[in-house]
Amino acid sequence: MAFTTTVVGSFPRPRELIESTKKHTKGEVTQKELDGLVEKATRSIIAHEEEAGLDVITDGEQRRSSFVSFVGDKIPGFKVMHIAQLNPDGLEILKRNKVQLTYMRAVVTEKLSDAVLARDEFEAAKKYSRKPFKVTLPAPYLVMWESWHKEFSKDAYATPEDFAHAYARLLRKEVLRLKDAGVSFIQIDEPMLGDLTEAGDKPDRYRRVFNELYGQEYRGFKEELRLAVDLLNEATSGVSGVRLGVHMDRWPNKDSPYFDLGYERFLPELLETKTDQFVLEYTSAGTGDPAKLVKEFPAGMEIGLGVVSVQDYEVESPETIVSRVKRVIGSIEPERIWLNPDCGFAPGMFRTFPTDVAFAKLRSMTKAAEMLRKEYA
Ligand SMILES: [Zn+2]
Repeated sequence: MAFTTTVVGSFPRPRELIESTKKHTKGEVTQKELDGLVEKATRSIIAHEEEAGLDVITDGEQRRSSFVSFVGDKIPGFKVMHIAQLNPDGLEILKRNKVQLTYMRAVVTEKLSDAVLARDEFEAAKKYSRKPFKVTLPAPYLVMWESWHKEFSKDAYATPEDFAHAYARLLRKEVLRLKDAGVSFIQIDEPMLGDLTEAGDKPDRYRRVFNELYGQEYRGFKEELRLAVDLLNEATSGVSGVRLGVHMDRWPNKDSPYFDLGYERFLPELLETKTDQFVLEYTSAGTGDPAKLVKEFPAGMEIGLGVVSVQDYEVESPETIVSRVKRVIGSIEPERIWLNPDCGFAPGMFRTFPTDVAFAKLRSMTKAAEMLRKEYA
């Protein structure tokens, strides 16, 4: 099918669920009550996704504290620590670099052991819909930068790379479990690689922050890119029979020399990634030209084109979305173009975004896909 519609992953959690999660940590709400709320929120998100007419849906990540930190809740070997424990100047470092991070961080402190990461979420969600499901997993390169601390992690893993390879091997087991469970699309989230679009001889601000907070060293642009691609390929090695995707963020910075450049900065190495689709952000100013990238894609590789903003509350018209898709038409066949928002609507539990606005945007997007199919398919 041409112009398949989907989402990147997360949706805002209902206020009741957020409040009860806080109370649960204080012992004021039982696990059973919390599970009931999660179930209700998941069912509601899925009903709304169906109503919006999406072709491929997610469970909305209602069970996850954030798209990356839930790994620490699931896989044994992590310890949740406050940012000030990791570095006494933690909060000051964030402020100085104008970076927002969750204060509670999952840091690796012991050897990892295998555990189900997302299959349980899929099993719980699939009873609510017969549509194909996408399930998201945090990438090894991302988890390495987010979780390896030079003091707290070195006894378990001497280097960040040792840890990243160990996580990649576990991730591959989960990819296979998800495939066997019947997931249609497994998307590996790699915002940390996306942010590398802002790096060069010097690291971008995220790697600068993790250097200061965790004591990790920047390897240089090409070496970072190489490592990220190798780790992705380790996690999907030998996997077939399921659609694999890699999602990257893009935060263009007006003062940066890389403004107006996109993921084409990662060519040609990026195309060595064993993936069926790249799911990418393209609605903000300064993100570059998607046609430049997709022209270089090998035969069969798809783009998940970001066509609605997850920052801006103004609902794009179907016509606006159609014009965004037209940027790549002619450079790649319609069957290889997927439509999605730029990113998840609420990657972390506390990120606010009005649910009605999110679904109005998705209805606009599915309307745009219908218009495009009439014109091109
Ligand atoms: Zn994203």
